[in-house]
Amino acid sequence: MLVNAKDMLQKARDGKYAVGQFNINNLEWTKAILLTAQELNSPVILGVSEGAGKYMAGFKTVADMVNAMIEELKITVPVATHLDHGSYEGCYKCIEAGFSSIMFDGSHYPIEENVEKTKELVKVCAEKGLSLEAEVGSIGGEEDGVVGMGECADPDECKAIADLGVDMLAAGIGNIHGKYPANWPGLSFETLAAVKEKTGDMPLVLHGGTGIPEDMIKKAISLGVAKINVNTECQLAFAEATRKYIEAGKDLEGKGFDPRKLLAPGTEAIKETVKTKMELFGSVGKA
Ligand SMILES: [Zn+2]
Repeated sequence: MLVNAKDMLQKARDGKYAVGQFNINNLEWTKAILLTAQELNSPVILGVSEGAGKYMAGFKTVADMVNAMIEELKITVPVATHLDHGSYEGCYKCIEAGFSSIMFDGSHYPIEENVEKTKELVKVCAEKGLSLEAEVGSIGGEEDGVVGMGECADPDECKAIADLGVDMLAAGIGNIHGKYPANWPGLSFETLAAVKEKTGDMPLVLHGGTGIPEDMIKKAISLGVAKINVNTECQLAFAEATRKYIEAGKDLEGKGFDPRKLLAPGTEAIKETVKTKMELFGSVGKA
């Protein structure tokens, strides 16, 4: 069932678990994530970056594919289609395309401009029934060519954005997109606690969920994180399983070259990854 992310995140915050956002890249990704959510009776957020939207022939293609899949696969758990790190223009495109949730990444604007644009989107999303995520303090690593250094957000700026009426807030707490370097100092729980203190009930979002140790994930959830983004981990799992299939020469046996066979091990690997994450985040059985 397509819904916005507001209710599912408020429930997660109150129940001290987190809903996973799993980014999609194609049909196999989408199907694997939806089927796993249904099997585990877990709410789920499908993340779509601007780059992935372009790759999949536009946001409308994505929204229509997800909606059709929810119907055809009889997915009854709550599902949100969510723009990940949206530009100002990208947000409007997704609202029009039928997404149920968007993230406006205004972290690269001066705080005044981030506030202005976020305020406007709060109004539009409320009118159209979408949920809105905002970001304060750029999140490290690389996402669609935008490189940040893993800063920690200013808790007062977080409060300023939270008070505008967004539904969820991503604050940089030393987290990084992609693989974490060996010398990564870990999440700043001090920053997280300070942000939580200033923003009160606001469900907080942790980006860059790949490679954060389990105990840190659990501690972050206990401190108010209600949504965790996972992207790279599914990509690595898909690539590894596909490589094994090819290296074993399976594509050369019989009809092993059929894409429905060739892409099957990778698809199964995504399912496994999503399952592991949902169990870790505590969202299993919470639909
Ligand atoms: Zn992110």
